[in-house]
This record gives sequence, structure tokens and C-alpha cells, in this order.
Amino acid sequence: MGAELGNYKSCVSARSTDKEILKHAQDGGIVSQLFGFALDEGIIDGAIVAANKEFAAKYPSKVMADNSNFDMIEPWRPIPAIVNTRAELIAAAGTKYNVSPNVSMIKEATRSFGLDKVGIVGTPCQMQAIRKLQLYPVGARDVGASIALAVGIFCMENFPYQSILQLVEDHAAMKMESVKKMEIGKGKFWVYGKRGQVVQLPLKVTHKYEQPGCKVCLDYVANLGDISTGSVGSPDGWSTVMVRSKIGDSVWAKAMAAGCFETQPIEKVKPGLELVSKLANEKISKNKATLEARATFGVGKALRNPYI
Ligand code: SF4
Repeated sequence: MGAELGNYKSCVSARSTDKEILKHAQDGGIVSQLFGFALDEGIIDGAIVAANKEFAAKYPSKVMADNSNFDMIEPWRPIPAIVNTRAELIAAAGTKYNVSPNVSMIKEATRSFGLDKVGIVGTPCQMQAIRKLQLYPVGARDVGASIALAVGIFCMENFPYQSILQLVEDHAAMKMESVKKMEIGKGKFWVYGKRGQVVQLPLKVTHKYEQPGCKVCLDYVANLGDISTGSVGSPDGWSTVMVRSKIGDSVWAKAMAAGCFETQPIEKVKPGLELVSKLANEKISKNKATLEARATFGVGKALRNPYI
């Protein structure tokens, strides 16, 4: 296992020890627990997360959406929001499989929301945006220094909202508003209904709905997060956690000492890092091939390569 997993100081399989968080979490409740702890300890004074319509209706001052008409927001459309309490964190928990522009809120977080120490969760590309903003702060004066904890989520691909709508309503024959949870795992796209129904779609059905921009993405495990986490590698209800930066290491150690997490050595769990590594390599080599193809896309012309 090598560069495909990025640099990290430690890696474990973990889950939150908070029952309430676990009840609402996608997997092991890592993000909610970490941000909850960091809020309690004053490590951050707010976090940018992907919330939804119900959250926006309940906490209208925490979102940037036009708060006059929440009825217009579709179910399962993620809405970036600032959370300052555990209750808000829990209300925003769970993966939404379509694009949530969390980074769009970063400047506002330090301006009208007045945060000095911002937590942010996001996909690998969003971790890249944050690091780029810290090093090349074009149009984002003083924002970079306010980012106190960046938590990255493993990501194979994402979907536009319209794609998720079609997958759920046409392929899985379920209404968006009756869906309790969505999940990609074990080679399938799972849709869980509020009445207990479960539909699984093979991933070959979902491929054509992926966001085209994801096809040139070379990061699976959020290499640039302070901490990154995802379900792959760990048993159901647990998450794989990679502690990467000095900040991540210090927050993780404090959270562990405070009893926030139950952990198992990653070497002891199945399928473990081997699967994470395999999927990371698959993503990287497939997308490198796309990048190469872009170089000879036209007759005597190339499509732009953002990495060079
Ligand atoms: S695949 Fe890459 S570009 Fe697409 S959402 Fe995930 S991290 Fe971002």
C-alpha cells in the first residue's frame, strides 16, 4: 500500500460512543462526534456541513439558502449549513449522494457568521479546494487561517441531483421523500425506504449518472484532510479513520482520551486497508486514463489538464 492512500500518521476502525449520534449516523458517526467534541472543547466555534431541507426549515439562520421558501427545496438535496451545537450536528448527519457546495460557505462562515475557528467536512476535491485556498487565497482574505479542522470523506464519485432523482424514482421506483437512507457499498447502490423497503441497484446502472468532473479526480481517501474517514475497510456501523496532519493528530488524541470513540486496529478488521487501497488504485488508474485520453481528444488539440 502506497501513495494511493496519501500520508497518514495512524489508521483505525472506529465508531462513536454516543448512542444518539450512532442512531443518526451514516456509518460510525465519526464526523458528528469529532465536530461535537471540537465544539465542546473550543477547537472550532462552528462547522460547515451538508444539511438538508428539514434542517433548513428548523434552523433557517444557519443556511445560506433563500429562507423564505424552503418548500421549494427538494428532498435529499444537500444544503451547506453552519452548525454550532450537537443537536444541529445530529440534524444534519447522513450522506447525501449529490453535490453539496460546502466550500461556498467558507468565506461567509468567517464573515456574517463570525467564526474564528471553522470546521469543515467535505469530499476529497473539497479538501483540495480548502488547501488551495489556504495557499493561494484568491478572493478569500483571512479565510485560510480560520480553518481549524478539515475532515475529508472517502469518495469514489458523486452525482448531480437530477441523477439521484432518476436513480431513486425511476430505477429504484421509490419516491425521494420516502427514502430514509442511501448508501453505496458492497458493489451496490442501496436505497432504504422509511417503511422498511430496501432496493439495491448494481453500480453498472449508476455509472452513466456520475458527475463527469469526477472522472479526472485522483483522490479517493481525502489525502488533504486533517482526518479522513469512510465506510470502506471497516465492518457495518464502523468507519475507517485516517489521521493525517498535526492538527488531526492532536484533535484525535484528545477525542480518544475523552472517550469519544471505540476503536479496533485496522489490521484486525475485515476487509481492512487492503480493500481501501484496491479501490483507491482502481479509481486513480481509471481516472488517469481519462486524463491521458483528454490529451489527444481532438484532432491536433487537447482538452485542458488541470494538474499541469
Ligand atoms: S470523485 Fe472526486 S471530484 Fe468527484 S466528488 Fe468525489 S472527490 Fe470530488
